Amino acid sequence: MIFNPHIETMPLDKLRRLQSERLQKLVAYVYEKIPFYKQQLDQRGIPPSSIKSIADIARLPFTTKEDLRKHYPFQMFAVPREQLARIHASSGTTGKPTVVGYTKADLKLFGEVNARSLAAAGAKPGMMLHNAYGYGLFTGGLGLHAGAETLGMSVIPVSGGMTDRQLMILQDFQPDVICCTPSYAQRLTEEVRDRQIDLDRLRLKYAVLGAEPWTEAIREDVQKGLHVQATNIYGLSEIMGPGVSQEAVEERGSGSHVWEDHFYPEVVDPHTGDPLPEGKDGVLVFTTLTKEAFPVLRYWTNDICALHYDSDSQRTHIKMSAIKGRADDMLIIRGVNLFHTQVEELIQQIPELAPHYQLIVSREGTMDALEVKVELEPEQKEEGQLKEQLSRFLRKKMKDNIGVSAEVEVVPHGAIPRSEGGKLKRIVDRRNL
Ligand code: ADP
Repeated sequence: MIFNPHIETMPLDKLRRLQSERLQKLVAYVYEKIPFYKQQLDQRGIPPSSIKSIADIARLPFTTKEDLRKHYPFQMFAVPREQLARIHASSGTTGKPTVVGYTKADLKLFGEVNARSLAAAGAKPGMMLHNAYGYGLFTGGLGLHAGAETLGMSVIPVSGGMTDRQLMILQDFQPDVICCTPSYAQRLTEEVRDRQIDLDRLRLKYAVLGAEPWTEAIREDVQKGLHVQATNIYGLSEIMGPGVSQEAVEERGSGSHVWEDHFYPEVVDPHTGDPLPEGKDGVLVFTTLTKEAFPVLRYWTNDICALHYDSDSQRTHIKMSAIKGRADDMLIIRGVNLFHTQVEELIQQIPELAPHYQLIVSREGTMDALEVKVELEPEQKEEGQLKEQLSRFLRKKMKDNIGVSAEVEVVPHGAIPRSEGGKLKRIVDRRNL
């Protein structure tokens, strides 16, 4: 179902006109309301009146996480405190959290884009959502909550963690849709299997998973284990929270539509900042075209992906590929760049291995060394020879496909830490211990 057909299927020339009008207004607005942007534009000699269309966006300066941290907590807000309706903060995965604010109109938009996302994921009015994203300063819980209410669903505000209670609710209330991080969906999948919960007791149809990178390996695991169709939802606090982009259930695997009438995406070269053409991987950058309390120009997300238009899709908005990882999570092992999702993809190709793994980076002399610990599928026998064979096989695959030499240890089922409800750390960095 398409929640807002007028916007989601808008012809591209019309969409460009809308974006152009909105960008002009936005630049004038941030110039007037936020001293940081006035200074940035003045320094570069860019009067707001010189911005005429969306194509001019490449002339604007980037905003980085560092810029936001320097203005912690509230100096990047464009409205006085009295006009704020809510405050959220990023999870702080990479350092001090950034603080973001919303006006009433921003919260309405938060509901709208999440309603679009849930509908694209398969949800319909009247369905029940099991919302296992954390409620609180993290944007996940309240963002999806607003989306479900806007779409006309009922919400069970479970929040993250307390797995026993989650499993009880899933069986007793029988919600149609679940949303949580992909690593927590893996955890639930595993608990359902290990506790031999009858899948007929669950009525889940759809899972909406995001807030951390994941691949087809996890999709396969969760879809099979929970009998759902699982789609990717992407977002970040600095832009809005969840609901910046969403994969459509009927187009799984082909990228997520970015709601570009509100969040204008670009992919740029990580070194030069130059815009990259469709299909090329680079750093994802967003401009919020309509936000009131916390508007940003060209926010450098550090997330790596590619953009493309999909003319086979009913929705016209551009698609982003799955995020490979954050630029600052990229490992460089003996000169080879590596994201953990690349290892996850190789694990998926070996049926005896489960997508439960950890990358451990340490320093040997002046070189960085990588060790991969990966679990056996639970039905596989704990047998030394098999483990040795699989370890050799994955080591070779990593060498052939990624060009990286790593130690691989195949460990028993349950040996790798699981998500407690939120984002899971898959990289253990022992270099600075
Ligand atoms: P933090 O950056 O501190 O984790 P947020 O909670 O705002 O704060 O999380 C936003 C970040 O989470 C994104 O920039 C991105 O790195 C990651 N993320 C969110 N959704 C996805 C997704 N679907 N796939 C991959 N990464 C995601």
